Amino acid sequence: MVIFALIAWGLAASRFPAAYPQYGTTAYVIAGLLTALAFFASLLAHELSHALVARRNGLHVEDITLWLFGGVARLSGEARNPGADLRIAGVGPLVSLLLGAVFLIVAELLSASGYHDLVVAGFGWLGAINILLAVFNAIPAAPLDGGRLLRSIIWWRTGDRLKAIQWSSRAGEVFGWVLVAVGLITFFARADFGALWFALIGWFVIGAATAESQQATVRNQLGQLAIRDVMTPNPITASASMTVADLLSSDLIRHRHSTFPVTDNGRGPVGLVTFNQIRHVQPQDRATTRLRDIACPMEQVAQAWPDEPAAALLPRLSQCAEGRALVLSDGVLVGIISPSDINRVLRWITTTGHNERT
Ligand SMILES: [Zn+2]
Repeated sequence: MVIFALIAWGLAASRFPAAYPQYGTTAYVIAGLLTALAFFASLLAHELSHALVARRNGLHVEDITLWLFGGVARLSGEARNPGADLRIAGVGPLVSLLLGAVFLIVAELLSASGYHDLVVAGFGWLGAINILLAVFNAIPAAPLDGGRLLRSIIWWRTGDRLKAIQWSSRAGEVFGWVLVAVGLITFFARADFGALWFALIGWFVIGAATAESQQATVRNQLGQLAIRDVMTPNPITASASMTVADLLSSDLIRHRHSTFPVTDNGRGPVGLVTFNQIRHVQPQDRATTRLRDIACPMEQVAQAWPDEPAAALLPRLSQCAEGRALVLSDGVLVGIISPSDINRVLRWITTTGHNERT
């Protein structure tokens, strides 16, 4: 939303008036808004094309987030083969390129038939920005589409998906650092605040690339293990109506668990409270703060099923629950998974070499 406003404002307040000074404010504002809207529609078209091709290859899209240089469509699983991986990644830049070409052709045609300057300028800008998007996204660095293309090609050539992810992530990290360096150098050399965008995008790319490679390594190590092999069964729960003071003075705390699933009068879990959240309640507020007030709500807690592959859970773990997940079977809480459960299993796997399903 902020970015939408920035783009609309940038177009209406500076780009259009600079190029065509003869119009009134209303004309610039309308042209700016419409162009920004069309820009977002093209971003959406790019992401939807990924989603569509993913669906045709048996995957579905969990959600789509739009950001400055396109978006990220989070997939429910992994492509089954390099070909599917290539098609899902490749279609996005292709759609942007195609849209860019169409916008430019329309701009050309409108200009030739003597159409309104601002309309022509809008289409021209949309054409250029879509082509820029296609080119930027095609850079072979994870998590950009180009990184996925690189991954699918390495996967295809070597047959090793993990290696492919690690290489494309490494490329992403290098590219991210280049962006950070260019951004910072330009900023310090020319006091250009716009250059900080590069550094920021670079930072995002580095983070995403590193996370991808770590996740792939852990996924690979978890192998065929199911959630039930990783979870701690029958966790100790606390009641949502309990106050923090109650909890701290109760027997529950003796177990030294770092997390408590929170239940509402014995029914299914309604959230999860971590020791960190408890610790942050000031001593004078402990008698009045109920667990439901500080618990991470169920919508933000990753949920898993006992028979699900453990590796599939990793992308769902959330910040709010501090990387913990609740395991439910028919709506009944049967287990909990914490980062230490995962680490314990990983250590066990690296020591014994066993990661088959039990
Ligand atoms: Zn894309």
